[in-house]
Amino acid sequence: MTDLNPETHLFIDGKLVDAEGGRTYDVINPATEEVAGVAADASSADAGRAIAAARRAFDESDWSTNHDRRLKALTQFRDAIKADIEELRLEVAAETGTPPGLTYGPQVQGPVDAIDFAIDTLRGYEFERELPDMGTMGGPTRRIVLREAAGVVAAITPWNFPLQINLAKVIPALAAGCTVVLKPAPNTPWSASFLGRIAARCPDMPAGVFNVITSSDKAAIGELLTSDPRVDVVSFTGSTGVGRRVMENASNTVKKVFLELGGKSAYIVLDDADFASALPIAAAVCYHAGQGCAISTRLLIPRSRYDEALAYLEQIFNYIPYGDRTDMTQIMGPLVSAEQRDRVLSYIEKGKAEGARLVAGGGIPPHLDKGYYVQPTLFADVTNDMTIAREEIFGPVLVTIPFDDDDDAVRIANDSIYGLSGAIASASVDRALGVAKRIRTGTFGINGANFFAPNAPFGGYKQSGVGREMGVEGFEEYLEVKTIAMPADVAADAQADAERAAVPA
Ligand code: NAD
Repeated sequence: MTDLNPETHLFIDGKLVDAEGGRTYDVINPATEEVAGVAADASSADAGRAIAAARRAFDESDWSTNHDRRLKALTQFRDAIKADIEELRLEVAAETGTPPGLTYGPQVQGPVDAIDFAIDTLRGYEFERELPDMGTMGGPTRRIVLREAAGVVAAITPWNFPLQINLAKVIPALAAGCTVVLKPAPNTPWSASFLGRIAARCPDMPAGVFNVITSSDKAAIGELLTSDPRVDVVSFTGSTGVGRRVMENASNTVKKVFLELGGKSAYIVLDDADFASALPIAAAVCYHAGQGCAISTRLLIPRSRYDEALAYLEQIFNYIPYGDRTDMTQIMGPLVSAEQRDRVLSYIEKGKAEGARLVAGGGIPPHLDKGYYVQPTLFADVTNDMTIAREEIFGPVLVTIPFDDDDDAVRIANDSIYGLSGAIASASVDRALGVAKRIRTGTFGINGANFFAPNAPFGGYKQSGVGREMGVEGFEEYLEVKTIAMPADVAADAQADAERAAVPA
């Protein structure tokens, strides 16, 4: 049996090192409220050393230009991660409190399997292409377009699916030839420090190309990373409020900024939908206690069938199982911290105060004496201008909003500062697709279909973000584009044309 033995060092310039002064901080298991271990508590000076190492590795090694070297190093890194996946599973479960069953899916297994996509993208990517020769005043001109590594990346990540988000940034960034400083959220340091420990054992990974800085401070290290002139790219996942601040800091040195931010996605159930298959999907709001940015948290129901739907949903919400960490089928765990639990509870109070009707849940579960749990919570009679319909709660709270017709549903779904995701259910896929095309979000699912995959770009419209993670688009976030012009070699071109013409078809 594997023991919990998380990495308690920073990873800087190819070495596992203590934080300045040997400082560490406690990591709490949200399911037990107990200290599960410690993490290194980096200072600003530690972060500065990590940036310097990443800068040096980018500027002074051939990492950014040697594709074969990167392929070799990333393959070695992937294999070493896979070899210790059981240890990783325990660490992610302990720091996030996620139901252990989810570590066999999106919390651990899924993201580790997804590493292959970035490696394959690197293997097959066209880093150089020719434009047609162009006649200019100086004579015929040949032009090539290069895709080159964008530089030093500051990768800043949240606590909800920490390993998935760490890997979705670090692997494509390294594959593209960038060097990286990874800074995870204070609550979930181990899924990042684990990657540092593994990288330290990979001789093909040059010193400095990958660095990990864990810290108990929510903002200070992030502020430093997003404003340091030696950083070229900020790859950030987190709340929209902090995203705005990141953009502001990065603007001083005009960094490339890639932001994956919050959401308030709508699930539209059309009047022709089969409720027996459509409504259970709405319980996905309880997946990892609702701590998922793309989860649909507003359920839009036809007014003509509103009461019927609520009766159905009330049953579902009152019987969602949670809190048994030996049951691998459970999808709901605790909130990540007491602070986050209290934030969710305060939104529930606000919903009641603004006139929404509480149908299920609404408090701390009486049957669990440990863990930052909140009951699966269902609100009815919600209007789209209420706070619980407008702001991201990041908890197991579903608000149900009635609509009159398809146009009204589209209007309500789009009436949000966010544009991350959404879903629809209908007896007609054509009708559903027609509505899907009118929703301003970066991802969308019809009749329960899942859009989330390593080869599918993921990201948001509006204030849900800038850029895309995963897919080829997620790789290209870490590339710059360079066009080079040179005099065309007219004689050589003519010779090549002649040779081509001479080859029998
Ligand atoms: P957060 O915005 O508070 O923090 C995210 C990260 O930014 C953490 O590492 C934090 O330490 C750091 N940070 C905080 N202040 C900073 C600053 N001033 N400068 C730089 N970095 C700073 O988010 P969170 O509470 O950790 O995570 C929940 C949020 O993340 C939700 O809003 C959720 O929607 C969002 N999220 C978005 C996606 C997506 O792909 N769109 C995915 C997961 C989570």
